[in-house]
Amino acid sequence: MKQRLVVLGGGESGVGAAILGKDKGLEVFLSDSGSLAQDYRDTLIKENIEFEEGQHTSEKILNASVVVKSPGIPPTAPIVTALVEKGIPVLSEIEFAAGYTDAKMVCITGSNGKTTTTLLTYHILKKAGLDVGLAGNVGKSLALQVSRNPHSVYVIELSSFQLENMYKFQANVAVILNITPDHLDRYDHKMENYAAAKFRILQNQTKDDFFIYWQDDPIIRRQVETVQGEALRLPFGLDKEDETAAFLDNGIVRFSTPMDVWEIPRDKISLPGLHNLYNSMAAGLSATALNIKNDKIREALQDFEAVEHRLEYVDTIDGVRYVNDSKATNVNSTWYALESMDTPVVLILGGKDKGNDYSEIEELVKKKVRAIVCMGLHNEKLIDFFKDKVPQIRDTHSLKDAVDACHALAQPGDTVLLSPCCASFDLFKSYEDRGKQFKAAVKTLTKEKD
Ligand code: ADP
Repeated sequence: MKQRLVVLGGGESGVGAAILGKDKGLEVFLSDSGSLAQDYRDTLIKENIEFEEGQHTSEKILNASVVVKSPGIPPTAPIVTALVEKGIPVLSEIEFAAGYTDAKMVCITGSNGKTTTTLLTYHILKKAGLDVGLAGNVGKSLALQVSRNPHSVYVIELSSFQLENMYKFQANVAVILNITPDHLDRYDHKMENYAAAKFRILQNQTKDDFFIYWQDDPIIRRQVETVQGEALRLPFGLDKEDETAAFLDNGIVRFSTPMDVWEIPRDKISLPGLHNLYNSMAAGLSATALNIKNDKIREALQDFEAVEHRLEYVDTIDGVRYVNDSKATNVNSTWYALESMDTPVVLILGGKDKGNDYSEIEELVKKKVRAIVCMGLHNEKLIDFFKDKVPQIRDTHSLKDAVDACHALAQPGDTVLLSPCCASFDLFKSYEDRGKQFKAAVKTLTKEKD
């Protein structure tokens, strides 16, 4: 009898898994409790894959041989618990797709910096001439590529949600950038559960594999001591310790591994800020692990361009720089954005607060911020916390009002920084929508001037 694959969730990963399943001769059914984007619906129709929207029909799901679940569906969803009770394997799309390829897997996880480090690593490997694909939260799904456009190496951005449903998957290079409180609601509000999910990236590694991590992160440090595994450890950080494989030494970033020893001046690295120094160390080590020549890595670290919505320069108006860091949806990201600023800042904060503790950025705000413009449906908590800590604070409820307020408050030489600490869902569809609207509003300021 044909194996039956049921895919829960019809986004990029779900539709990719459905296509791979069909190509491999499985009987495929896709179910989404919401509605599908038009292009995914069209694809499923064109591929002749059976699907449903707006519901999960148990009879069509609980008879699966294997299920691929979108990372957005929590493990507590009734349909998922029913599957688990019946003993039906529930996999992530990455786990499912990896079963059909022998490609090398470079996997990047962490609370912050995943997309940047993934894109940077991909950039290095591509420039070095490898046949490399980009997958995970960015680009096309791994499953679709494995089926229709296979590569010999993949650089994969992995969230802890994806890692939850991975069992046999083997990362040849595993990177853990950092672990800070985010999405704790999904982990019973327990940090150790969240950390454990991230460390699943190491399961199944062998002595030929690599484990790259930020040695200065206290949670990673604690967890590293408890894990075994034969992979070669390549920690990175500011200072050299016994095993450190990348560190900063008087303005020079040094890479020191059994594969190669090389260096690059810090000021030659194209991405700004301390956080991007770490991301560059992680990407440089990943490429070294794949035996890429150091001159190629050096060149790629120097010509990589900023990723949209991450400390992205927008424009300079009346001597004021506008920077879009809409992707900063938690306090730690905003800390790094502020850390990288070398001018006075007018800071736009606000949105959907996930239980934020703003004291983490208090010192930097006091030191660098001239004014805060709150932009959200509910700004009370922000105003309450920051009102005595900055010279000026404004209460706005739309992007246009926020940008106008920044324009009025900023002085030549300042930076207006959208780095909101919060999710975007109160006023916007997504952080991309927020960033794009910000850039459009800044462009309008330019036009008004012309
Ligand atoms: P992710 O994909 O993990 O959300 P991104 O690369 O999209 O990460 O970056 C999101 C935000 O996180 C950036 O705007 C930046 O402010 C911050 N950030 C990036 N890299 C790091 C890092 N290594 N440590 C802490 N914060 C970071």
